[in-house]
Amino acid sequence: MILQDTTSTQFVICLNLGKCLVSVEVFRSERKSMVLTLDSQGGPELKIPNSCSLKEAHRFLEKNQGWLGERLRQKFSQSTRQNKYVDCGRVGFLGKLYKLRLVDSRKLIGISDDVLFLKRPSKECSAKIQRLVVNWYRNEMESYIPGRIKRINQYFGDSIVPRSVKYRKMKSSYGNCSSSGVITLNVMLMKAGFKNIDYVIAHELCHLRCWSHDFEFYSLLKSVMPDWKVRARNLEKDF
Ligand SMILES: [Zn+2]
Repeated sequence: MILQDTTSTQFVICLNLGKCLVSVEVFRSERKSMVLTLDSQGGPELKIPNSCSLKEAHRFLEKNQGWLGERLRQKFSQSTRQNKYVDCGRVGFLGKLYKLRLVDSRKLIGISDDVLFLKRPSKECSAKIQRLVVNWYRNEMESYIPGRIKRINQYFGDSIVPRSVKYRKMKSSYGNCSSSGVITLNVMLMKAGFKNIDYVIAHELCHLRCWSHDFEFYSLLKSVMPDWKVRARNLEKDF
């Protein structure tokens, strides 16, 4: 759990909750107790009394992170953005939902209007269809993402570059950066819009310069992407 920008009456605490790095908006006000809720957009909000120390806010979030994780899971499983791995199901791609249609001809593969056509697998089960979609995401990611990484990395204004970039289906994170400078991005990010994917790219590129999620890390992130909090929050909805 990380703090940044802690001097004001409003700041953000970042929590590692399974696959998500969740940003909790914290508000100080004239109140007696702490309360953790989700706002109308599904973003976590913690209200704390003026006298509450940051340590206490930390402890409160730590104690309630199970509850928060469960609420977020419920919220997102109800989301219409969930992929449905069946013919005529819905699949997210770059922040939009497409109808998935399985076809017999390879020539038809791709997006046309609001339909994603994929080659029908030999056995039409959800696991096989999911694999098709994931492979589609990976191919798209390999063509779209390297250019975006290069462009965002230029904002840092130094000569540091990732040693390599890998694209993988990950269960519990958007991406990561190894100590040797290898960035791995979750192929499922392709469900999200580019603006929100760019946030993950910027986050991982920051790790090439700052290893831990500390004040320096978030200052750097803010300097290259001032609206990263909005993007991070929107990403949770897309994902
Ligand atoms: Zn990180």
